[in-house]
Amino acid sequence: MCSVDKNKRGRSVDIYDAVIVGAGWSGMYMLHRLRGLGLKVQVYEAGADVGGTWYWNRYPGARCDVPSLNYSYSFSEDIWKSWNWSERYAAQQEIEDYAKFVADQLDLRRDIQFNTTVTSARFDDIGNRWIVGLDPSGTVSTKYLMMGTGGYSAPITPRIADIGKFEGELLYTARWPRTKVSFQGKRVGVVGTGSSGIQVVTAIGQEKDFEKLVVFQRTANFAVPGHNHPHDPSYLEAFKRGYPEFWQQARTSASGTVLQGEIGPVKGLSDEEFVARMDAAWARGGQSVLNVITDLVVDPEVNERVAEYLRKRIRERVKDPYTAELLSPRGHYVGARRVLIENGYFETFNDPRVSLVDVRADPIERLTPGGLATRGNRYDLDMIIFATGFDSGTGALLRIDIEGRGHERLSAHWANGPRTYLGATIAGFPNLFVIAGPGSPSIRSNVIVSIEQHVNWITDLVQHMEEEGFEYVESSSEAEQQWTEHVANVAGSTLIVKNDTQYIGANVPGKPRTYLAYVGGVNLYRVICERVVEAGYEGFVFGGADGAETCSSREWSGPPTDPGLRTRFGASLETTII
Ligand code: NAP
Repeated sequence: MCSVDKNKRGRSVDIYDAVIVGAGWSGMYMLHRLRGLGLKVQVYEAGADVGGTWYWNRYPGARCDVPSLNYSYSFSEDIWKSWNWSERYAAQQEIEDYAKFVADQLDLRRDIQFNTTVTSARFDDIGNRWIVGLDPSGTVSTKYLMMGTGGYSAPITPRIADIGKFEGELLYTARWPRTKVSFQGKRVGVVGTGSSGIQVVTAIGQEKDFEKLVVFQRTANFAVPGHNHPHDPSYLEAFKRGYPEFWQQARTSASGTVLQGEIGPVKGLSDEEFVARMDAAWARGGQSVLNVITDLVVDPEVNERVAEYLRKRIRERVKDPYTAELLSPRGHYVGARRVLIENGYFETFNDPRVSLVDVRADPIERLTPGGLATRGNRYDLDMIIFATGFDSGTGALLRIDIEGRGHERLSAHWANGPRTYLGATIAGFPNLFVIAGPGSPSIRSNVIVSIEQHVNWITDLVQHMEEEGFEYVESSSEAEQQWTEHVANVAGSTLIVKNDTQYIGANVPGKPRTYLAYVGGVNLYRVICERVVEAGYEGFVFGGADGAETCSSREWSGPPTDPGLRTRFGASLETTII
């Protein structure tokens, strides 16, 4: 299928047009599109099957927090017509089944090598090719290197002393075993109360047969109800009739999600009007509760008003006032951290077997053979679950040893934080594309919508390269600098940069502080990408076989200035904090 060449040591090296790293949403769709161009493509995936994040994060309670009907591929009518999501927010197993279904429908697996990790990638300046190193073994050569590595695929092991000394069961939500885990009769501890932590806590709380559940919380997060429920078949049928229009709305929305309810500012509302508006949103649930408030992350007073509404809702649901207060977020803005979509999380704490420990006041010191020790207490546990998050946005890329032009390492290029042009390309790293990479809407959007847009845009660029006979394309350092500043400026104009969060790298010791996503809006970002193409791929340098370079402009002409096209925090677009 692929041609074979010999490397310097005389070993055979497979030659591809494109290598894709990862078989999650990005890698699967990228493979499908590049096949359509007639290229020889190979995907490498560390897991044993497709699904990416949904392959690894199989902990009890894992489910999407964007409605499944919106958290799906839109590109294939055949696929969305034949797949029926059972619930508003599908559980992990169903999402994994969906990924497998897509792989079957598109016959993807024949070009995916599973159980294989890409460990290195080195750009050969002379041949204009990437030499890719694999684990367990092998080296391949490719013209294009597509990183579908995901924003949340490099889990963090928390820096807690004596982790290895714990003699009970130690589990990580991000690397959950494929065999069934029993909680029966067990004293279970969960560390972490982000999206993963609250889902696993809710699920264990509903299992009924555990002996004790201790939740170790460092920071309480704002949450809104998901109101998860099964889909009625007649609802699905009617919904699908309007799917093309729905997808169009999603693509042209600020977050990649279709919001329900009145979109606008709440600043001028009287208390009665404000509460009525919030109550109506609360009844709908999901991302729409907060994303419709256009002044949420730009006005501190509005933000606090919404925060207090959310705290009041916790007090209504949690019986013990001390626990309710501990669960009430303080000290950070609504929307700066990921707002949790919960389905019964707060009620879990009304079970007398469930307790909440404030590890900000009494920090975890170490694990012991029989449990966990904080500075002031010891907790006897049979099982400890870490839901402690990821090296978001950049972690999976930087865990691969990537070396661009002139032997420059990506880790050196990004020593002060990620620098990209459009969140997709990196100066000095020709023909390397990061799908939904840092500096694109990615982890602050409905990522599957962002992935489709990126894959389509990258495919068009590759097609252009092939038609014009170019050997390589590379973003200019000028355009990269401009884009990186724009990403920082847009985030910096809001409250979301004012707190230490995973979105600026604050959860990883030593990680440079840079806002990791473009928060100008999925809709605005799409327009920007289109305009870059219309301007002859401004900011990109193309190289021909003869070594000659062409470029319409090394500079990016900047964000559109048309009236009505503003960042998502501008007056004309809804605010999105997904
Ligand atoms: P996360 O949001 O980063 O949460 C990690 C949690 O672990 C935080 O509560 C953190 O506390 C805590 N933690 C970390 N180290 C700790 C330590 N040494 N001691 C005590 N607590 C510690 O990670 P996540 O929950 O895995 O979510 C990451 C992202 O994945 C989300 O933003 C979301 O986009 C995605 N996700 C989505 C879904 C879904 O429903 N679709 C589900 C899961 C995840 P601090 O906050 O104090 O640092």
